[in-house]
Amino acid sequence: MTQLLLGCIADDFTGGTDLASTLVRGGMRTLQVIGVPKGTIPNDIDAVVVALKTRTLPAEDAVRESLEALEWLKQIGCRQYFFKYCSTFDSTPEGNIGPVADAMMGSLGIDFAIACPAVPENKRTVYLGHLFVDDTLLSESGMRNHPLTPMTDSNLVRVLQQQTRRKVGLVPHSAVSKGNRFLEKTMATIKDSGCSYAIVDAVSDDDLRAISVVIQDHMLITGGSGIALGLPENFARKGLLVRSEAASELPSVGGLSAVLSGSCSVATNAQVEHWQFGRPSFQLDPIALSKGEDQVTQALEWASSLIQTEPVLIYGSAKPEVVKAAQQLLGVEAAGQIVEDALSRIASGLVALGVRKLVVAGGETSGAVVKALNIEALRIGAPIDPGVPWTVGLRDVPIALALKSGNFGTVDFFEKALGVVQ
Ligand code: ADP
Repeated sequence: MTQLLLGCIADDFTGGTDLASTLVRGGMRTLQVIGVPKGTIPNDIDAVVVALKTRTLPAEDAVRESLEALEWLKQIGCRQYFFKYCSTFDSTPEGNIGPVADAMMGSLGIDFAIACPAVPENKRTVYLGHLFVDDTLLSESGMRNHPLTPMTDSNLVRVLQQQTRRKVGLVPHSAVSKGNRFLEKTMATIKDSGCSYAIVDAVSDDDLRAISVVIQDHMLITGGSGIALGLPENFARKGLLVRSEAASELPSVGGLSAVLSGSCSVATNAQVEHWQFGRPSFQLDPIALSKGEDQVTQALEWASSLIQTEPVLIYGSAKPEVVKAAQQLLGVEAAGQIVEDALSRIASGLVALGVRKLVVAGGETSGAVVKALNIEALRIGAPIDPGVPWTVGLRDVPIALALKSGNFGTVDFFEKALGVVQ
């Protein structure tokens, strides 16, 4: 196999798909693998994204898993490496962005990398080191109440500095906007002052493209999916990549279709409601499931004849007050796990019924479903909405999957993905 151009490690599942989608849009043939694969991978690819689930693990576990993935990527041989985290810098004060980036730097034998989470397309921008979500500071956005990674400080220099012993500096927007030479000089000055990381301001895709050129020879890039948009061009400019429209081509998959939703995010709840205007749906209830009600069999029996003529939705998604009630009774983790288990078994049951096209809503939910279906690798296709591409799970019988992270997608996402008109 020829050397891969880019080897990436993503700290969560749908984040990996988001990054892979950005690379495919840029003309790179990209494979996403779920953890380090046991078997060999296809050799007609330019980039590989190893999707982990390390965002909220204890730091030492996140570091160990990330280093295992990096070792595998190094064995394959990549020209450049990428550590992908969330565009809202989701992390706890203990990590894991700093510890994982530190470990990757150590393993690669380097002492400088940028940290650039900005994704202006999704309204995540960084100015003077401060992260904005839409037009509010991160610390004033909904992220301040995140159950696992509440983000209460918008100053990323400070946030990252808390997670690493290495020194963190800032490349301000004034340097980014002054052109490559000045930007390069600023980065060199920051590095010379003893910094191992530079938070880099970016408020537009043009900023990201300018930064990409300057970091073209960096061994490691850390950031959100946004900074990846300039990377295909870097490789193409060096004659290493023939950007191809065919990068997003997927093997054709026939069969029945369904939607599974375990996300309770605002956008997903609206998508579920939209589907219910005239389309069949079946709701799972964690409390009933915990009491032993066999909703898995019920859902599959309900779906078995319906799906022959139209796609169905099976969901656990619920409004915050309903989720809270289940969580109070069962515990946060157990309530989530019960729904994830049920949806995973339903996914396997639907595939046994002939479903070959599945839309899955929810990051954790997607991880659980992909695992239940024994999928080790995904070929990444064209985006349905920003950050959510069609993919094909490579297994004995290929399955087309659209894996949507909670807050992504327009209100008619499910219908749009399956090509059914409302
Ligand atoms: P998102 O991408 O929106 O964060 P996830 O799938 O990552 O979605 O997380 C949603 C979590 O909520 C999952 O663990 C899922 O099983 C759980 N869940 C789904 N429905 C319910 C419900 N009715 N009550 C409690 N938890 C639920």
